[in-house]
Amino acid sequence: MTWPSVHDASFTDQTEDARDASLADRNEDARDASFADHNEDAREAAFPGKHESPRKTVFLDRDGVINRLERGNYVTSWERFQFLRGVLDAIARLHNAGFMIIVITNQSAVNRGLMTSDDLEDIHSRMLAEIEEAGGRVEAVYHCPHRPDENCQCRKPETGMFDRANEKFNVDYDNSWFVGDFESDRKVAEKMGLRFILAKGDNGLRKAVSEIIG
Ligand SMILES: [Mg+2]
Repeated sequence: MTWPSVHDASFTDQTEDARDASLADRNEDARDASFADHNEDAREAAFPGKHESPRKTVFLDRDGVINRLERGNYVTSWERFQFLRGVLDAIARLHNAGFMIIVITNQSAVNRGLMTSDDLEDIHSRMLAEIEEAGGRVEAVYHCPHRPDENCQCRKPETGMFDRANEKFNVDYDNSWFVGDFESDRKVAEKMGLRFILAKGDNGLRKAVSEIIG
């Protein structure tokens, strides 16, 4: 009669240990992140790009520029994500031309409860993997999870996501661009002093990149 309970106890201990270990990992990550915010040395280690010379950069909107935008249909899983035609080649061309590429995207579906942050992270990690497989590279993806009614400082056309990118990367604003598919994206480009190109649909980014690279 004692055996099952002993077995249970040891099983519980093991899972408890596993949980502790994974918690410790997460705490470590959280500590690193908060350190980076408050400690200049840690910032230098964590964000080496900030201390490089300014880099010409192309900020890309996601929905409607990188992937197909279906009206009223949020991309809440990888199955719903579809690269627009010409995008993978266009990003590879930008990368090969020496541009740093940063994605800036409003994703209110998170705070609308239609997907979790993990779902979004999964979409982005698969997106980045395909981009790299095609010879491109995206340095970072910044997303705003808020709904419009939350009046946050990051949802475009506010500039919070660009401000966060600026904390980490040294952007050469005289030679940088923002490519978006809405006229409202133009506003944020103006606020940031970026040149703007409106691109939408299949081959939209391909044409924009031809304009940027010449
Ligand atoms: Mg868009």
